[in-house]
Amino acid sequence: MIRVTGKRDVTGISRDLLKFIMEASKSSHPHEFAALLRAENGVISEMLLVPGTASDENSAIMMFHMLPIDRSIVGSVHSHPVHDLRYSDADLEMFGSKGIYNIIVAYPYTENDWVCYNPKGEKVTLPVVDDPQEGH
Ligand code: ZN
Repeated sequence: MIRVTGKRDVTGISRDLLKFIMEASKSSHPHEFAALLRAENGVISEMLLVPGTASDENSAIMMFHMLPIDRSIVGSVHSHPVHDLRYSDADLEMFGSKGIYNIIVAYPYTENDWVCYNPKGEKVTLPVVDDPQEGH
């Protein structure tokens, strides 16, 4: 069993990270973008890029499994190059292995084109948190 410290304490996602995810998804388009999510002080504020993420969703998932265990990882994010925020069977399988917070972003990657799922495939409300040190 893997114990993940602080998993239950996540209160939101950083607005800056969300913007960064959308930018990364745009630049990967029409291919998928995938990364793991890290939380700091209860806010998802960092992502761990999956090396060699391929255009095919199954390849991305295989890469996830090759990554070392990191206790600060609370979930995953990946993009859908089509305007569809629903998860696939493969997505749901991946959600269960990567943590509680699993974000799907979809074309056209605006600030509203995302949803967060728990490992059961239920939508999770994740407030967007402004970074305090940014001063805007
Ligand atoms: Zn997917």
